[in-house]
Amino acid sequence: MKDDQTPRTRSPLGGLNLNFLAPVAGDEAAVSMPVQPAAAGEGEPVETRVVIVGSGPAGLTAAIYTARANLEPIVIGGIVGGGQLMITSEVENYPGFPNGVQGPELMGLFRSQAERFGARIVDADVDRVDLGSRPFRLWAAAVEYRAQAVIVATGAEALWLGLDSETRLRGRGVSACATCDGFFFREKEIGVVGGGDSALEEALFLTRFASKVHLIHRRDGFRGSKIMQDRAASHPKIQLHLNRTIEEVLGEEHVDGVRLGKTDEPGEEVLEIDGLFIAIGHRPNVAVFRDWLGTDAKGYLRADGATTASNIEGVFVAGDVDDSRYRQAVTAAGEGCRAAIDVERWLESQEVHTAQKLETGAATAL
Ligand code: NAP
Repeated sequence: MKDDQTPRTRSPLGGLNLNFLAPVAGDEAAVSMPVQPAAAGEGEPVETRVVIVGSGPAGLTAAIYTARANLEPIVIGGIVGGGQLMITSEVENYPGFPNGVQGPELMGLFRSQAERFGARIVDADVDRVDLGSRPFRLWAAAVEYRAQAVIVATGAEALWLGLDSETRLRGRGVSACATCDGFFFREKEIGVVGGGDSALEEALFLTRFASKVHLIHRRDGFRGSKIMQDRAASHPKIQLHLNRTIEEVLGEEHVDGVRLGKTDEPGEEVLEIDGLFIAIGHRPNVAVFRDWLGTDAKGYLRADGATTASNIEGVFVAGDVDDSRYRQAVTAAGEGCRAAIDVERWLESQEVHTAQKLETGAATAL
C-alpha cells in the first residue's frame, strides 16, 4: 500500500465511510486497544509473543485464531488497513453472505471479531524489520515491537500501466479504485483496462454511475470467470474493446480520452472518455521483508509448501503476499488460519524445548 502513488486528495481511503470499524457500542466483549508505546515505558520496545503484519483477511483471521489461543497478538495493520477488500465493492463469493457484502463492511466485521478476542491493532506501517535473531524486531511509527513469532500477511497492491500520462493524470480521472472514485463519474463515459475478474467487476460496478463503460483489453479473450464475462458482455452500458492497448491517456488537467493501439490490425484510434480505471492485477507487498525472506520468480514470498513457514524459523507467511495463484479473500483467510495454527504449534514446541533444556541443566547441576 505504501507504493500506491495515487494522490490522496481525500481521506486515505478515498472517502470511504469507516465508522463501522469502530467497536460496536454495547458489545461488552469488544475491546479496541490501540497499542500505546507509553504502556511499555516511553521509548521502550513493546514485547509480545506474536506480531502479525497486515490487516487484510489473512492478517485478521490469524489475529482471531492467535488471540483465541491466548497468544496476545499485536497486528501492525498499515496506515490504510484492511487490504484489497477496502477498495472492492460487492463481494458475492465470500461464504456466509448469500446476498453479498461490501468489501469494507466485511473487513470491518473481521476487525471487530479480532478485537473481540483481545487482538491489538496498530494502524501504522512497518518500515523496518530485523529477523536475524529472536526476539524478532519490527519498527512502526517509531515504535519497536519484539516478538517470538511473526506472521507476514501484507497482501498485494494494484498495478499501474506505467505510462507517463497515466501518472500525470492520477487523481484527475485516472484511478485504480472504482469503489472510491466511481461516484465522481455520474453520467460520464469511462474506460476500464484489464481482462481479469477485477476489470470485469469494476466495469460492472461502474455501470451504476457512468452513462457508458468501455472495457479495454489487450487480447481477444478474457481471463476472468465465465459468469462475470457473460454479465459484462450482456450489460447494455458496457462496450468491449478487445485487442486494444492504452498508448496514452489524453487530457491536460483532466482525462478527456485515451489513444488506443490495435493488436489485431495496424493503426490507432482515439476513444473519448472522462475517466480511466486501471484493473490489471497486483504486486505483493514485500518491501521490508525482501532482504530476509525467500521469494518466487514473480516476487511473492515463499512458504515451504506443507505449512506457512518461511525460510526463517519462527516467521510465517499468509495471504496474497505468498499467493499469486488463488488470491481470494476466502483463501487468504484460510491461510491466516493455517499461519496462526503453525505459530501456536511452533511456539509450543519452542517452550517444550526450553523446558527440556532447563530440566537437563538442573539434572546436570545435581
Ligand atoms: P489478473 O487475473 O492477473 O488479470 C489481470 C488482467 O490485466 C489480465 O487480463 C491481463 O491481461 C491484464 N494486464 C496485465 N498487465 C497489463 C498491462 N500492462 N496492460 C494491459 N493489460 C494488462 O488480475 P485481477 O483481475 O486483479 O485478478 C486477480 C485474482 O483475484 C484472480 O484470481 C481473480 O479471479 C481474483 N478476483 C476475484 C474477484 C471476484 O471473484 N469477485 C474480483 C477480483 C479479483 P492478459 O489476460 O493478457 O494477461
